[in-house]
Amino acid sequence: MPKSLKFTPLQSIKGVGPARSLLLKNLGIDTVEDLLYLFPYRYEDRRTFTPIKKLALGQYQTVCADVIVGGAKRSFSAKQMVEIIVGDDTGRITAVWFNQPYMASNFKPGMRVIFYGKVDVYKNRLQMVAPDYEIVDGDEKVSLHMGRIVPIYPLTKGIGQKYLRQIIHICLQEYADQVRDIIPEAIRKRQGFTPITESIRQIHFPQTLEEQTLSHERIVFEEFFLFQIAVLLRRMSIVKKIGIAHQITDKSLNQITGSIGFKLTAAQINALKTITEDMQKKNPMLRLLQGDVGSGKTIVAFCACLAAIANGHQAAIMAPTEILAKQHGESFKRLFAKGPFAHIKAEVLTSSMLSKDKKSILKRLKEGTIDLIIGTHALIEDDVEFKDLSFVVIDEQHKFGVNQRALLSSKTVNPDVLIMTATPIPRTLCLTLYGDVDVSVIDELPPGRGEIKTFLFPSAKSQDVYRKVREWVNKGTQAYIIYPLVEESDKLELRAATEMFEHLQHHEFKGLRMALVHGQMDRRESDVSMQAFKRGELDILVATTILEVGIDVANANVMVIEHAERFGLSQLHQLRGRIGRGKHNAVCILIGDPTTDEGKARLDALVKTTDGFKIAEYDLEIRGPGHYFGRYQHGANELRMANPMAQMALLDKARQEAIDLVNADTALSKPQSRVIQGVIKKRYPQYLELILAG
Ligand code: ADP
Ligand code: MG
Repeated sequence: MPKSLKFTPLQSIKGVGPARSLLLKNLGIDTVEDLLYLFPYRYEDRRTFTPIKKLALGQYQTVCADVIVGGAKRSFSAKQMVEIIVGDDTGRITAVWFNQPYMASNFKPGMRVIFYGKVDVYKNRLQMVAPDYEIVDGDEKVSLHMGRIVPIYPLTKGIGQKYLRQIIHICLQEYADQVRDIIPEAIRKRQGFTPITESIRQIHFPQTLEEQTLSHERIVFEEFFLFQIAVLLRRMSIVKKIGIAHQITDKSLNQITGSIGFKLTAAQINALKTITEDMQKKNPMLRLLQGDVGSGKTIVAFCACLAAIANGHQAAIMAPTEILAKQHGESFKRLFAKGPFAHIKAEVLTSSMLSKDKKSILKRLKEGTIDLIIGTHALIEDDVEFKDLSFVVIDEQHKFGVNQRALLSSKTVNPDVLIMTATPIPRTLCLTLYGDVDVSVIDELPPGRGEIKTFLFPSAKSQDVYRKVREWVNKGTQAYIIYPLVEESDKLELRAATEMFEHLQHHEFKGLRMALVHGQMDRRESDVSMQAFKRGELDILVATTILEVGIDVANANVMVIEHAERFGLSQLHQLRGRIGRGKHNAVCILIGDPTTDEGKARLDALVKTTDGFKIAEYDLEIRGPGHYFGRYQHGANELRMANPMAQMALLDKARQEAIDLVNADTALSKPQSRVIQGVIKKRYPQYLELILAG
């Protein structure tokens, strides 16, 4: 009886020793099974190559050619540049790398190489910048790496493309027969998929493009199917649980909404109604509140919290950042400090607060003398205990991993959960993520808002932009200048932002009051600057993306976003949502030099519309849903190959099959379902935790 592949160590594969198996761990690969399920992220059709003469500009393509000039190093405006010239019978193309001097030693004249990259023209010569490459060995005519459709895998340091291909090939020969089919046979046949042993061979080494497509579809289906089962089970377990039936009368609700200084919009009233109706039911609520930035979700959440508190329970709001938590705390006080709810005890809990303050809050939460707690991740730490939590609001849910969301709700007897998001989630994706989650939408902005106009300028025009900003500031508005840091920890980018700040301070904006905030600085320090900006003591706030969610300054009506082409569309929309929050018109200027058609289309979309829903759909189409899923977790990330927006038909089929299966075998106890249970346990542990807990 062969050992289960799940437990077969990597070192049983020829060519994998202790050192390599350690490196492979970095790809999340611990076992033979993991390796078989490490799928290519793209393929190269190396059956024939495009002659250099026929390469199409601006497209990603593959060439196979001989090195003519290898490894010339040059300095190029303070950058080190390596140039390799290769050629075939029809022409030549240059590959260049910046700041990777070691590249020079990789190529010698006469070698045969394969380059994959975007084909450009520079100074009348064809070139690829930093292409993927592989060096072809002499006898590779018939091999894993040439003359076929070749898989390209994600790599990690010390693990090369060819090596992976080899060990996966060996692995397939030895173990593919033992891979167990996760999809029950009846479903597999109904959907017209080949058995898994074939699919898994074909997804790694397809003979034809059709084979590749079919095997890919099957794997995507499998992912959707499993994920949908997890989602459905979670949803069923939540619905079945007994929660708290709040008592909410029209009168009590009117008292709450009547105590705010302004009238709620019709959309807000509607949303609040759907929420409070759910709260009155015995089973726990799971509801999504969608509304564009500034549409007034927070107030609706406050009202619902008050309704829970009026029933004698506690409520909690979890925000993704400290600034936002504090801001919610302040708005709550501002709105309700006078009037019938002045007695409500609301506190803010963050991880950076003094430990004695924290202790006191924890104590009072446990005793039940705090009614409303607003906090960051600090709320889900082990030491937080509630006396009687009945209502939980999670703001900007996509900033949290699923795991953390689960934790907060398991801290207590099944509270009602309201998830708020400013990133509109299309219906399909909603279903995928939450199952039949209920959705409330706020689709109008409060009256009297100014209009936001957006413009795009190339970086060559920045001086004009700065001059304009100075004029506006002189007239009394405040301005944000945003620098993109792809990672807040990126030192080089951070230095660029800091240098630019200093430059602007001494030149273009000399004499204006400015501060810089970024994610690498001490939280208290950045808070001081943001608060000063809020009080109008600063004219310009230069910031990295930490601004994205947070800060509400009605007088800040100008925003300049530098290198706008580097941001995601939704991110830009969120950033822009920081202005135009008062009654004045606002201006958002994108400075960017998009190099691709797609990049240009993205920025144009932002100039054309302020409708968050349109922007979100567009963003999903081009970027995929990855950013909705919270942080990537090894082995537990939710969808690897599948993209719900791009593969909706498959998703629908998988969802339908999942519903049938779960209805027929809710406990997943039939033999075929056991396999499914095992895989879900491994891949979606956070879901199962919930199911088992419930
Ligand atoms: P969101 O959380 O959806 O981004 P907020 O709840 O922060 O939006 O609301 C944005 C601003 O609009 C806040 O300053 C809030 O006080 C104000 N606001 C919300 N609802 C209304 C309303 N119905 N009328 C006037 N102002 C409102
Ligand atoms: Mg908000």
